[in-house]
Amino acid sequence: MKNGNNHAAQRLSALILTLTLILCACGGKKPAEPVTPVEPTQAPAVTEAASSSSEPAESAEERARLSFSEKDIHSGDLILVSAAHAYDFEANDDTLDLKNIRENQSFYYQVDKLEFSVAGRILPALDRMIAACDEAVGTKETGITSAYRTYEYQEGVMREITEAYGEAYAKKYVAIPGFSEHHTGLAVDIGIFYEDGSQGSFSESRNAVWMRENCYRFGFVRRYAEDKTKITGISNEAWHFRYVGMPHAAFMTEKNFCLEEYIDYLREHTSENAPLSVTCADGSYDIFFTDAGEIDEPSGEYTVSGNNVDGVIVTVKREG
Ligand SMILES: [Zn+2]
Repeated sequence: MKNGNNHAAQRLSALILTLTLILCACGGKKPAEPVTPVEPTQAPAVTEAASSSSEPAESAEERARLSFSEKDIHSGDLILVSAAHAYDFEANDDTLDLKNIRENQSFYYQVDKLEFSVAGRILPALDRMIAACDEAVGTKETGITSAYRTYEYQEGVMREITEAYGEAYAKKYVAIPGFSEHHTGLAVDIGIFYEDGSQGSFSESRNAVWMRENCYRFGFVRRYAEDKTKITGISNEAWHFRYVGMPHAAFMTEKNFCLEEYIDYLREHTSENAPLSVTCADGSYDIFFTDAGEIDEPSGEYTVSGNNVDGVIVTVKREG
């Protein structure tokens, strides 16, 4: 890939400083804490064997077919991007729809760099999550320290951290360009911003505790928890949140699944006739995984996301 220009280099230097401060401030200090169980009234109730009413054979033949391309496998809110699974830039080009946070936020909160953007579809949820966090904590200090990153940006991060701290350190803390969840536009790093413009430690803030316990209500999950580092391959990051949407965030939180575990778990539900049924505050859903390439189009409201590995996850909203 091409080298960045001077402006990019300046932005990178600033980012590295921020990143370094964050890493130094909170690396591994927090004890592992289990996800706080959600209120029984809000907890997703799971019915393993529930099935939608079966259609008569002749009517099934009349249903439209829904087919999935390779591109579908590599795009959507549930894609797994990790050291083992590269982000597919081309597959997401049409749907990424980046929105500059500062220019589109529904109320003012701080962003570390004016150019920070996220996938437009997650911005309303991000706004609501930050507003709710500020309200719960009683301050207006929640802001964004990192958001969408291009390949070149991540390349610069890797280069500068390697130069400053050596290759071993960089490998431990910086995702290889092309393998960062920040490429998806669905991940943000949350920080603490004081009125004078200086930044505090998010990991040690009350905001971090609130965010860890409540982010699922807005469709986000804490992606790199301390008790999942062996699975995610990423050190504990209290500040990194990933949008997966509802009902997935509620179910993952209830089960304490990281995205790797959730994607594996969904492989046990491979048919629309034996879906994973989840009820959360947003409603009731049937969820199933398929690698079939084509299925009967679900009736009613549904969404499709690739898992970025081997198939797609279909989420159907149940009526009533
Ligand atoms: Zn991050």
